[in-house]
Amino acid sequence: MKTLRNRQEEHIDMTTIAVIGLGVMGGPMAANLIKAGYDVVGYNRSPEKVNALVSQGGRGAASVATAVKDAQVVLTMLPDSPDVEEVVAGKEGVFAHAVPGTLWIDSSTIEPKVAVRLAQAAAERGIRAVDAPVSGGEAGAREGSLSIMVGGDAKDVMDVRPVLEAVGSTIVHVGPSGSGQTVKAANQLIVAGTIQLVAEALVFLEAYGVETEAAVKVLAGGLAGNRILDRKAGSMIAREFTPGFRVDLHHKDMGIVTSAAREVGVAIPLGAAVAQFMGALRARGHGSLDHSALLLLVDELSGRAGA
Ligand code: NAD
Repeated sequence: MKTLRNRQEEHIDMTTIAVIGLGVMGGPMAANLIKAGYDVVGYNRSPEKVNALVSQGGRGAASVATAVKDAQVVLTMLPDSPDVEEVVAGKEGVFAHAVPGTLWIDSSTIEPKVAVRLAQAAAERGIRAVDAPVSGGEAGAREGSLSIMVGGDAKDVMDVRPVLEAVGSTIVHVGPSGSGQTVKAANQLIVAGTIQLVAEALVFLEAYGVETEAAVKVLAGGLAGNRILDRKAGSMIAREFTPGFRVDLHHKDMGIVTSAAREVGVAIPLGAAVAQFMGALRARGHGSLDHSALLLLVDELSGRAGA
């Protein structure tokens, strides 16, 4: 078996990585794993994405079972909690077919309590689970510069670090299983809330006839400065909402953070309001737009749609 490039001193032999879910994020992450020298075998429900991986030097599999049976590491990058449950704990899933000792990394954004439950189920099968959701979007996935919040046992996290370093640049172990997902939920709360406030500020500035681009420039240099202002204000002013991160996915994530906060009795009144806005935007048929389209609702509520 080929020994892999490994930035850790300790030798780990984990040649084959099965990647399940080759979408917007999983596809480029798998491509970066190939570039880092790993033997990558991919599976996706829609086969054309598997073909794309093969054209980049990976191997294709026709099922989860065949993808994982000879892998030392399994990386899942799927939409939501039920998808991950089905793929890992289902009858033909990862737990049924991966060999004991396999490291399973879940980079999907799912409910923290589901991550904890699945990590326990994995342990019962001798599979080592690490939750490693990511932030940084499609661009971060392509550039291999994702920010990765990692939950799990310290030894398991150390062992998966070389794999995560091939797809991300900021990798932080934040606690036991489920903690990565909890941090990701907090991330999504902050991002949605910030988008909403930037949207409100932009519509407010426009209503006063202020030169919005100049306003953004000065705002970005002060205490109001933030990455949403830096990266999205321009497209928001232009009412250009090509994703990016889709409203559908952020709606799912607002559901995760509101229910997780409720479970521990933490009030998130602003977050709950933004969750409602995100849901309303989706209900109005904008689920496939970028989440910065929250501005469209501010336009509408202000009687400025199409202004
Ligand atoms: P996506 O919908 O583009 O990709 C998911 C892929 O999983 C699809 O190709 C789909 O065919 C496949 N899939 C679904 N169910 C499957 C199954 N049962 N078996 C095999 N394949 C299956 O989604 P994405 O944008 O890549 O997001 C994946 C996860 O990463 C989500 O949890 C999302 O919230 C999170 N995330 C996304 C972004 C982003 O900018 N898109 C950023 C950070 C985190």
